[in-house]
Amino acid sequence: MIGNSELTMKKALHILLMLALFASAASVSTAQIKQSGKVTKPTKTETPKCKTCGKTIDKCQYKGKHPAKCKTCGKTIDKCQYGGKHPTGSPQAEKNRILKELQNSMVWVDGGTFTMGAVLEPDEPHPGYYLDEVRIHQVTLSGFYICKFEVTQELWLAVMGNNPSHDKGNLRMPVNGVSWNECQEFISKLNKMTGKHYRMPTEAEWEFAARGGNLSKGYLYSGSNNLDDVAWYEVPDFTPRVVGQKKPNELGLYDMSGNIREWCQDWHIYYTKDAQNNPTGPTSGTERICRGGSVNYGEGYFRVYTRYHDEPSDNHFFHGLRLAASSL
Ligand SMILES: [Zn+2]
Ligand SMILES: [Zn+2]
Repeated sequence: MIGNSELTMKKALHILLMLALFASAASVSTAQIKQSGKVTKPTKTETPKCKTCGKTIDKCQYKGKHPAKCKTCGKTIDKCQYGGKHPTGSPQAEKNRILKELQNSMVWVDGGTFTMGAVLEPDEPHPGYYLDEVRIHQVTLSGFYICKFEVTQELWLAVMGNNPSHDKGNLRMPVNGVSWNECQEFISKLNKMTGKHYRMPTEAEWEFAARGGNLSKGYLYSGSNNLDDVAWYEVPDFTPRVVGQKKPNELGLYDMSGNIREWCQDWHIYYTKDAQNNPTGPTSGTERICRGGSVNYGEGYFRVYTRYHDEPSDNHFFHGLRLAASSL
């Protein structure tokens, strides 16, 4: 039996070799031929095992596809705080790189007019429904810049010299657990450092951008009607994820729905139905607006119009920010 199957294998290989030689006059590697030979072997039916940890695929935490190891620190890429790419230059060069990257990540949003708020009947049962979202009104905005990404821990670290994040691991995760007040300090230091005029977006700018600006396709979430496409939400460990991994919205902005809640400039107040031009919210208040929802919430809290508001000193773990600017 063994002799027979060996013979069959040899025959098969011979035929394959001949075919391969005829098919391609010049460049058939022996590796390719060997691979073709393997196809004729009977396939095993037992549960496949992970080649790295030896566990069966269903038991392996990476489902058989372990991330590569960082060549510098030896940790797996997902555990390395630099995601496998440790900075090679001086600390100053690294800082310059991060600030340059911020500038390059600012997206211009053309001005326009949109309907702000939740287009719902007030009595409609709705998980994302809040009374302060339903007074829809026309808003007209001038153009502005907004960042593709939430402020990362590496950016905060480069500016402030510390990383106050509640959840750490990778420096490309959004800074989290920062109050509105702390974010203002960060922005003022960043502006001193760069000579630019970064700021928080106004609430209206945030919502216009989340809706995709003039390129809006009218999605419920920022960039999709399917929350899984665009948002980190209801994450079991409540840990924010590295920015920019899900699908961007119509303007190329990532994580506008989910990941962390983003502080906006405005004080919170109920909307009125009046049309507004470049609204900046009331001049005083007790709570600041934040938008976008966060990893600890379930579906229904991530709509482009969903509003949150918290005290400016609140540094709960899900608070972070995204930068905007009127000019660069
Ligand atoms: Zn494994
Ligand atoms: Zn590393």
